[in-house]
This record gives sequence, C-alpha cells and structure tokens, in this order.
Amino acid sequence: MVGKEVVLKTLVVEDSKVTLKAICAYLENMGIHPLTAETGKDALEIYRREHPDIILLDGRLPDIDGFDVAREIRATEKKKDWSAIIFLTSMTKDEDLARGIEVGGDDYLMKPVSEIVLKAKVNAMRRLVEMQRELIAATHKLNQLNKELQQLSATDGLTGLSNRRMFDELSRREWRRCERAQKPFSLVMVDVDHFKSYNDTYGHQAGDECLKSIALQMQRAAPRASDVVARYGGEEFVFVLGETDIDGAKWVANLLRQRVSDLKIANEASPLHHVTVSCGVASVVPGEGKALESLLQSADDALYQAKQQGRNRVLGTEYGQMGSEAVS
Ligand code: GH3
Ligand code: MG
Ligand code: MG
Ligand code: MG
Repeated sequence: MVGKEVVLKTLVVEDSKVTLKAICAYLENMGIHPLTAETGKDALEIYRREHPDIILLDGRLPDIDGFDVAREIRATEKKKDWSAIIFLTSMTKDEDLARGIEVGGDDYLMKPVSEIVLKAKVNAMRRLVEMQRELIAATHKLNQLNKELQQLSATDGLTGLSNRRMFDELSRREWRRCERAQKPFSLVMVDVDHFKSYNDTYGHQAGDECLKSIALQMQRAAPRASDVVARYGGEEFVFVLGETDIDGAKWVANLLRQRVSDLKIANEASPLHHVTVSCGVASVVPGEGKALESLLQSADDALYQAKQQGRNRVLGTEYGQMGSEAVS
C-alpha cells in the first residue's frame, strides 16, 4: 500500500514485567509507543478510554482471564472501533489457541516472544487496521452520497420544495394517518395567474425567480411538521394539510394568496398589474369509498372554477359539493 503508514495505537496487556518490557522495546523499535496494562481490569479500562487498534493480550492475568477480557471487548465494541487482538500465550495446547480465536482473538504469539515474529504479526494486523479504516471512510462517504441522492430525488431543483414523486408518497402517507385518526384531510391546488404572459413579458429567468418567491411563501403559509408543500408541475403547487378541515385549508390558501399579492411582483398582463395565484381547496375525512385521487380531482375542479370566476381567489369544496368562496 502506497502512502503514509497509519499510526497504530497499541495496548500491551501482560502481568510479567520482564515480558512486558521486552515487548515494549520491540514495539518501540517499530516506532510504536504502546499503552500498557498489567491486569484485566486496567486493560478494559484503557480499552474503553483509548480504543486501541491493536491489543497484545496475555492469556493469563492475575484478575480477569485474558480470554474473558477479549470476550468483553468483542461484546461491547462498535464496528468503527474494531481492535485487532493478538493473544500472548505460553500455553501450547491446540485447544488453548483455538479458544483464543473463538473468543475473538485474531492471532496469537508464543512466549517467549520473538522480535521478528512480533514485527511480522503487528505488520499483518496493521494491514487489517488500514483496510478497516478505508472501509469505514468509504462507507461514510457512501452514506453521505446516498443521503444527498435521496434529497435530490425528493426535492424540486428550482424551488427546493418536495417534488411530484415526494408529493405522491407523502400525501398517501398523510391520507392514511388521517384515516386512522378519523381526522379531516385537505388539499390545496395553487396555480399562478397569467403566468404565460409573465414569462413572455419578463423572460423565463424572471419567471423562475417568481416561482421561487411563491415557493417561499408556500413554505411560510404551512409551517406544521406534517404539512407537505410541493411543486406539482410547472407553475402549479400543492399543499397537503393533515388534520385540517376545509375552513383551515381555506385559511392557509387565503394567507398564501394574500402574501403573494402583497409581494407586488409586477405583471402588466394581469388586471391587478401584479402576480397573483388562484387556489382550489378540497377536504374530506378519509374512509371507505373515499379516494385521494377523487379529492385531488375536486381540488383541481375548484381551481378551475377559481380561474373561471376571475382568478386571485380561493374556492373550496367539501367532498363532492362545490362551495364558493370568492375573494378579491
Ligand atoms: P392562468 O391564469 O389561466 O393559469 O394562465 P397561465 O398563463 O398561468 O396558464 P398556462 O397554463 O397557459 O401557462 C403556464 C405557463 O407557466 C406556461 C409556462 O411558460 C410557464 N411555466 C411552467 N413551468 C415553468 C418554469 O419552470 N419556469 C418558468 N419560468 N415558467 C414556467
Ligand atoms: Mg500472565
Ligand atoms: Mg397552470
Ligand atoms: Mg397559471
């Protein structure tokens, strides 16, 4: 592997002072300045505080058995804090070596420890630690990219509002929530008035800026966590308002209508000489025989009526029956 060698945080756990001193000297020769512990209790304490990359662990300690120390480490460690464990053992029985690996050891070193073998094994573990770190970095980056990707696939690039795909998903979710709670569910369809002329007069870029300003007012008009504010199409927007009845939804729609009007964005093609919006509201308590699609159609019909009656107004309908609410 090319590049700078990673600094290995190493812990040596050994109750024999002679062995401990020898191992530390060998590690120093490799440029590693180890942490040390002489009991299992100290080892666990240092482990929890320092999360070393490599632990050289004596199998027999005066207090807690080395195997139990390893078992405890494996039981509590997190993936990103993985430590390589090398058992130090003078036990030569195969069962002891097998047991060491079984409780979570990665390798073992026979005592008395040979400097050459120690160096080889530590270097082997170094490679594992490096791979582990690269994997963690790659996973982290991937998670980050996935998050950004999800964000991109959920939001509209121009306005930052939820896009149509997200609207479909969130509106269904909110519909089901209201159905369970037997609470009213409302939709508000919003369409910019005389927007084609606006584009023709002021240019497409100005049109985009205008849509952004309206999107901001949309967000402000429906600030509840459960409110969904989406760009439905070109210059059409939609509010999904859970636990909101027709009067509440009309109130939100009128707030938006008023605030957009108050922006006084010049549009010479409009009779009021500034940009306005029309809104169609529809509301229902979801239940048997009721469909979200029908409610969407009702909101669309109400919007059509609002346009017919002169624009810059809010019209609402309570599932199936059209009620008129003209505002100047
Ligand atoms: P009405 O009052 O009846 O809604 O009239 P309108 O002119 O707004 O309606 P129409 O549907 O005929 O025109 C919508 C226009 O919106 C067409 C298009 O030029 C414009 N538009 C749609 N999407 C965008 C966009 O992303 N950016 C810009 N700048 N304009 C858009
Ligand atoms: Mg010992
Ligand atoms: Mg339109
Ligand atoms: Mg329009």
